[in-house]
Amino acid sequence: MMLQAKVIPKHTDSNGWWHILPAVAAPNVLQGAHKVRTVVIGAGVCGIATAFRLGEICPNDETILLEAERAGFGTSGRNAGFMLNVHSHGPPKRLEILRRNMQLWASGLEDLRRRVNEFQIPCDWSEAGRFYGAAGPDGEKHIDEIAETLGQLGLEHRWLDQSEMQTRIGTGFYQRGLFTPGNALVNPAALMKGCAAYLPRNVTMFEETPAQSIARRGDGFVVTTPKGVVTCDRVVLATGVFLRHFGVAKGRYVPMATYGSLTGPLTDEQLAQIGTSEPFGLLGGSEYGATIRLMKDRRLFVRNHFHHAPKKSLPGGTVLGPIADMHRRSMAARWPGLADVPFEHSWGGIMAFTWNDGAIFGEVDSGIFAVLTNDVSPMTRGTASGRLLADYMEGRDSDLLQLQLGIDEAKRLPPRPFLDVGIAYERAKLRWVAKQEF
Ligand SMILES: Cc1cc2nc3c(=O)[nH]c(=O)nc-3n(C[C@H](O)[C@H](O)[C@H](O)COP(=O)(O)OP(=O)(O)OC[C@H]3O[C@@H](n4cnc5c(N)ncnc54)[C@H](O)[C@@H]3O)c2cc1C
Repeated sequence: MMLQAKVIPKHTDSNGWWHILPAVAAPNVLQGAHKVRTVVIGAGVCGIATAFRLGEICPNDETILLEAERAGFGTSGRNAGFMLNVHSHGPPKRLEILRRNMQLWASGLEDLRRRVNEFQIPCDWSEAGRFYGAAGPDGEKHIDEIAETLGQLGLEHRWLDQSEMQTRIGTGFYQRGLFTPGNALVNPAALMKGCAAYLPRNVTMFEETPAQSIARRGDGFVVTTPKGVVTCDRVVLATGVFLRHFGVAKGRYVPMATYGSLTGPLTDEQLAQIGTSEPFGLLGGSEYGATIRLMKDRRLFVRNHFHHAPKKSLPGGTVLGPIADMHRRSMAARWPGLADVPFEHSWGGIMAFTWNDGAIFGEVDSGIFAVLTNDVSPMTRGTASGRLLADYMEGRDSDLLQLQLGIDEAKRLPPRPFLDVGIAYERAKLRWVAKQEF
């Protein structure tokens, strides 16, 4: 048996969260032959969580964590930085499932919080909560539904009218807003870099070291990388949307690209256009609404636009000009006086959506394990799932592991091109109704 990585990740765009951090040292690249008990492939939120936990609960075993790029440069380090305690779109539904998932997200959030505190990870961690904004009828419908769900879950939330939104986040763009505490906001690249820097002693991370193939040899495996090989007893695939390029979970998740842009620190004059320097994070009420953040260092962040990304290439290159223009229009709609403020960085990332909010978790072949987080609270969910996968591998049961195992497997999607047509139609519809929320 041989699993071959058909695509190796290589982002060529400018992940702003990464570039505003101090430069990193040269990577530790794997060379020569190594032998360990476990190889974890992928240093995103899932892989780091699995490797961390294996290091903790197997103090006498060595683990190697392989990352094709740099920890913090992949999707887990290029998102909008909302570490969510709960997230739900649409009318309140299946509250018992939401309550179950919330326990997982809460445990993931707590893991991240503990790590940031223990290792003093400088990632601008802030327990600032989040706003939802509604600019038009679609946004209004969605934030009403979000408020209803929060209410039924007994979670704190409060309404803001247009003038309160104007006072707090400095724009009259939103007719109404909703505030709810409980999540954290971070620089995600700094969080991931920090988590990767404080792995247990018996976990060694190698960066710029893609796993090219996994071959079964005797009772174990040989993982081949460009400059070396690792012999191991078991392998964890935590490669995010690249999972399908190993032939695993194909047709069970949809890779969707979305984009972020970051300005430089605003001048006093530019900040005066907003009227506040107090950082905030805002999610669009509609699924297709823009995400906006103002950071402590006075930078503005905009995320919007989703599209199906079934091809092998990563977002980047020529698309980023039009994306930055789209982000600038979103910024100008909220703050006309900032219409000419350039973005220092624009970038894209691909995340996984499943049909049924289902899981990809567990042993996919004897000795080969896989974990993937999906579009609902992915960062906190991925932290919990990664940790629980290590427990599962070691036979350590818990209520949380049972909750994780109780999640339905990600359902098989319709084949292409039916899938492409369905997604294009659904996306056009959602985008059309949410056009005022951009
Ligand atoms: C613009 C944007 C905004 C988002 N906003 C949020 C948000 O605010 N909150 C939230 O919770 N989620 C958000 N997400 C989603 C979230 O970032 C992802 O769902 C999550 O990071 C996926 O984590 P992962 O560990 O599964 O995958 P990844 O983070 O992609 O990690 C997988 C790693 O595996 C590595 N890899 C792949 N193949 C190989 C190989 N052959 N060898 C070695 N390494 C390999 C990759 O380089 C990568 O680093 C956003 C995503 C985007 C793109």
